[in-house]
Amino acid sequence: MVGLELDELAKAWIEDCVVNHRPCPKPEEAELPARLIDVGNSTDNNGDLRLITTAKESKGRWIALSYCWGQTNNYRTTTRTLEDHLSHIPFNDLPLTIQDTIRVTRSLSIRYLWVDALCIIQDSDEDWQAEAEQMMNVYRNAYVVIAANQGKDVTSGMFIDRNPLESRPCEMRFRSRDGKQLIRWRWIHPPRIPWSVRVKKAHLQTRGWTLQETNLSTRVIYYDEGGLCWQCREGIRQERVPACLVTANDPLVPRRIFDAYAEDPMNIFTLWSGLVEASHLGLWHTN
Ligand SMILES: [Zn+2]
Repeated sequence: MVGLELDELAKAWIEDCVVNHRPCPKPEEAELPARLIDVGNSTDNNGDLRLITTAKESKGRWIALSYCWGQTNNYRTTTRTLEDHLSHIPFNDLPLTIQDTIRVTRSLSIRYLWVDALCIIQDSDEDWQAEAEQMMNVYRNAYVVIAANQGKDVTSGMFIDRNPLESRPCEMRFRSRDGKQLIRWRWIHPPRIPWSVRVKKAHLQTRGWTLQETNLSTRVIYYDEGGLCWQCREGIRQERVPACLVTANDPLVPRRIFDAYAEDPMNIFTLWSGLVEASHLGLWHTN
């Protein structure tokens, strides 16, 4: 799939979730985070882009990004660059993952985007303290969370060249020799890799931050090298079989700690021990 097709798939999944999923909260307009990137209301990628400070208690919709910063000297908001960013953010100066997220945000017709590097003043302890406390609301109330699953750093981008035969089914049609009659057709499916292997083994999942980012959010779209993946409270989807929703009741679907807690607070003990054993996250120090 190319970018535009992925946008259409993401839109279809979101719409299905919003309209048909009973366990998934409707995307009500929520209290906006203190700062957001205003991506404008056009799909023009050269359109105006700037940071805004929201009025207290103002409501709306935004997309939040979950990604790896990496070791690169990231483009960020500091006390020195804040005024410039409130006036204008040059699209071409941004690292690729943030550019890609802006493209997706515009294609989903959402006006605001939250990215920690730009929405928190990075050299202000005071601002970090205040915003870290709000991060739960930023992810929990986001319209959708976009997870750049493969990128090792913010310059990696969300879209990578890949073999479409490995991420979505291919329809083969067999016709008679004269080409007039359709004899049969077959679907050739890409290798069946479990969602939990596909998504949870990715580079992004080795970061401690993602634990809260993807557990708290209602709807997550993972941009993965194996294709687009979806998770909401109703279940999971993969681009390889776009119409198939594996419901959250399926034992193969990894439980999100806050969903399970909402169903029954006693679940917290089992989930917490599973979390502690999740050594692949690299969260724990041996000492
Ligand atoms: Zn849903």
